[in-house]
Amino acid sequence: MQGKIIYLDHSATTPLDPEALETMNPFLRDVYGNASSIHSLGQEAKKYLENARETFAKLINAESPEEIIFTSSGTESDNLAIKGTAFANKEKGNHIITSSIEHHAVLNTCEYLEENGFEVTYLPVDEYGAVNPKDVKKAINAKTVLVSIMHANNEVGTLQPIKEIAEIIRKENDTRFTKEFGGIYFHTDAVQTAGKIKIDVQSLGVDLLSVSAHKFYGPKGVGALYRRNGTRIVPILHGGHHERNLRAGTENVAGIAGMVKALELSQTKIDKEQERILLLRDKLEKEIIEKIPYTKVNGHSYRRVAGISNISFEFIEGESLVVSLDLKGIECSTGSACASGSTEASHVLKAMCLEPALAQGAVRFSLGKGNTEEDIDYVLKVLPEMVVKLREISPLWKQRK
Ligand code: PLP
Repeated sequence: MQGKIIYLDHSATTPLDPEALETMNPFLRDVYGNASSIHSLGQEAKKYLENARETFAKLINAESPEEIIFTSSGTESDNLAIKGTAFANKEKGNHIITSSIEHHAVLNTCEYLEENGFEVTYLPVDEYGAVNPKDVKKAINAKTVLVSIMHANNEVGTLQPIKEIAEIIRKENDTRFTKEFGGIYFHTDAVQTAGKIKIDVQSLGVDLLSVSAHKFYGPKGVGALYRRNGTRIVPILHGGHHERNLRAGTENVAGIAGMVKALELSQTKIDKEQERILLLRDKLEKEIIEKIPYTKVNGHSYRRVAGISNISFEFIEGESLVVSLDLKGIECSTGSACASGSTEASHVLKAMCLEPALAQGAVRFSLGKGNTEEDIDYVLKVLPEMVVKLREISPLWKQRK
């Protein structure tokens, strides 16, 4: 194992798929035209851009390619969905509903809107990290214009009841809102599910859906927002007329081509691959719980994305364990990559009402394409002894004994 890296941080980012890189190369080297230019090189780039849009639309079962807006990231897609809808519909209402366990790309966007005259309801979650659809229904009021609930949580992997929430919103729109207000829009942040679960915007029943390429073996710095035809949004970036006036900025054709290829590749073998990952995750969790006392798996037991395993090691700081594992070549994280570096316990685990000692000792292992049973065996070999050592120097452990 010396020198080998066991990468268990796929929810933070993934390595670029070699086939996706191959798809990108011609656009970086030869077809470098600006897709807005009218000359041949520009028009060639434009042709590939629109082909990519069409393929992407089909992959997520959108009705038409015009419903796809290419962006720079999951963060930008979330911002465009939320601010774009809020500002476009502010005459109708200023109330937004979201959950307390969203990624900061959503939470901080909502906070910004609160500072700018909007009201936001942050729904609680249960002990497994799931929103109750009944809470969505209760929170809706005459001023509600948007509901934004993530498809799966990035720290614990719990899947949210998106279809049920969509149904509640649909019924609400049928009764109260259609004539006077034009309806409540529903956004989901699918950054942690795209490439792991087949995305179908029709069966999910959402109006807006965010994805990010680097979470499914595509390049970093590229994302997309699905916007159902008729959903009123305004741009948040002002400039040229790109992306049908909804997202200014020269399109990253190479990145977009790489993203679409990566999503295509992930979706073709999705069931088999997720089954394989699930077996590895189950083995990891089962043996950690058996071999190491005072441990707990956080998140839902089965309504969860296959690759995510969030485990609390009581009497240890999650961060110390992450650093010790790193020294053995095992890469994992304490929570979302953006939150690492802060000693605050995760807002997700807090919202799940996890005891502070368990929340502080939480580590997220996120499995992906490159992982093998040998990797898991290695983790299971080094981890128990490491936990014993860290607990020996922990004042909390001594107090416990
Ligand atoms: N939403 C979720 C659920 C995420 O996990 C992340 C990244 O970790 C983002 C949004 C932000 O995506 P990006 O890194 O592409 O900005």
